[in-house]
Amino acid sequence: MKGKRLILMGPPGGGKGTQAQRLQETFGLVQLSTGDMLRAAVAAGTPVGKQAKALMENGQLVSDDVVVGIIDERLDADDVKNGFILDGFPRTVVQAERLDALLHRKGMGLDAVIELQVPDALIVERITGRYTCANCGKGYHDSFSKPLVEGVCDNCGCTDFKRRADDNADTVGHRLTAYHEQTAPLMPYYDGQGLLHVIDGTLPIDVVTTELKRILGA
Ligand code: AMP
Repeated sequence: MKGKRLILMGPPGGGKGTQAQRLQETFGLVQLSTGDMLRAAVAAGTPVGKQAKALMENGQLVSDDVVVGIIDERLDADDVKNGFILDGFPRTVVQAERLDALLHRKGMGLDAVIELQVPDALIVERITGRYTCANCGKGYHDSFSKPLVEGVCDNCGCTDFKRRADDNADTVGHRLTAYHEQTAPLMPYYDGQGLLHVIDGTLPIDVVTTELKRILGA
């Protein structure tokens, strides 16, 4: 597992972030979430953040140039040498082609692309109910995954939680449209490279993790 390089694909609310966090904790693979990086840029008010803010709030994709630039730079850091999980990137065929080119330039290859399949009908409930600990980032859900003690994070004891600005029913529709129109064409792209594996993302979180580990030979 050490040194593996993977892409987690799937719709918003499909479980990519949850599974990436688990692989990061268990195997030291670094989770590279363009969504997290862009949210940090918005919070910091950087030029990239200012450019991305309205698009993100509306559930639309940020430009390919911006996200490819972010990933290109991030892949030069030392911590990715032990392997990484791309979460939320690439999201368009142009991003995938440019990722191939930059990985080639850096002498890196991909080990697997894993698609978590979840039907649209389940996504709205998953997304509108989710929240995270404001301190450690552990994820929870109003219906499926509450803290053991109400209002207290299981992991760090913090009592502050936050919800994403784009996790509302209106924006989810736009995010799903973006996914089907712009990101779904990546599955045949990676299948053609012999890298694609599909997991039923409606299975319990632990079962999905076990399946992921099996695919990765861990
Ligand atoms: P996520 O956290 O992956 O759901 O991403 C949240 C939002 O950030 C998306 O709805 C997009 O507006 C933007 N975003 C994240 N990753 C990308 C990407 N690879 N390409 C374009 N926009 C992105």
